[in-house]
Amino acid sequence: MNAIVLTHGGASARMEWADGCDAAAHVAMQALDAGRTALEAAVAAVNLLEGDGRFNAGKGSVLRMDGVSMEMDAALMDDAGHLAAVAGIRDVEHPILLAREVLSTPHCMLAGEGAVAFARKRGIPEYRHQPGPRARELHRQIMRELAEGDFSDMPQWAEQDWRRDWNFLTDPELAAGACDTVGAVVRDRHGHFAVATSTGGAAPMLRGRIGDAPLVGCGFFAGPHGGVVATGIGEEITRRMVARSVYEGLAAGLDPESACRRVLADFPEAWDLGILAVSAQGGAHLANRTLPVGREERP
Ligand code: ASP
Repeated sequence: MNAIVLTHGGASARMEWADGCDAAAHVAMQALDAGRTALEAAVAAVNLLEGDGRFNAGKGSVLRMDGVSMEMDAALMDDAGHLAAVAGIRDVEHPILLAREVLSTPHCMLAGEGAVAFARKRGIPEYRHQPGPRARELHRQIMRELAEGDFSDMPQWAEQDWRRDWNFLTDPELAAGACDTVGAVVRDRHGHFAVATSTGGAAPMLRGRIGDAPLVGCGFFAGPHGGVVATGIGEEITRRMVARSVYEGLAAGLDPESACRRVLADFPEAWDLGILAVSAQGGAHLANRTLPVGREERP
């Protein structure tokens, strides 16, 4: 069977960043060529995307509403039952590597302070993220739109009093839209599937908000019928369990494109959604906005 790697840089990320997704797909294929597992290959791809700095994951993570804090999520899963995630973490350069450490605990997910303390116990050093110019500009733009009541890019906030719910340590007046996640789906030459995701979350976000990226069946799913990752507005993805819904299509015999199309057709048009899916029949990606994608397939 051909090995396939699909990677993405996030729903609504710029298409000209697809070179970063290609590089990540290439790294994962090299890992497979070196005899590593599909899971290790998916982790290698996401690790590269986290370090790229352009994507909303790892180094490129967006700022939360206070304009200072960053909280990140990451997850991985394969068809052999390996499943691990971290949520709401900070001060870790590569969240996906911390998620990989969770595999060797009795748990599936660690969150917040406990997850960060666990990182230190496992020898993952403290890393202070420095928000880049893109994250700062995005934050300014979002706070401007919130203040002006312009919810065209964030319909989920239209009914929400963000000042009332402000749970940061700073004043709301001191304090931006975007989402994106990175993800990878791998099929190795034996027909085994693995997926990995990582995100800085959506924007705007309250403190403590967790999206779909670390939630099994929502932002990701892998099993004997294939692997799926999703990106977009996490709350809608979670309500609809997008990754599991696409997977059920694969399990029912749909080809990846049809399985993605069925779920996308049911998703509210106003909200971003991108999906990657790989099965024994091949790989496909679909999105209702832009979605930079990398792909490698080799015998
Ligand atoms: N789904 C991610 C989240 O809501 C963001 C994204 O994929 O664009 O945290």
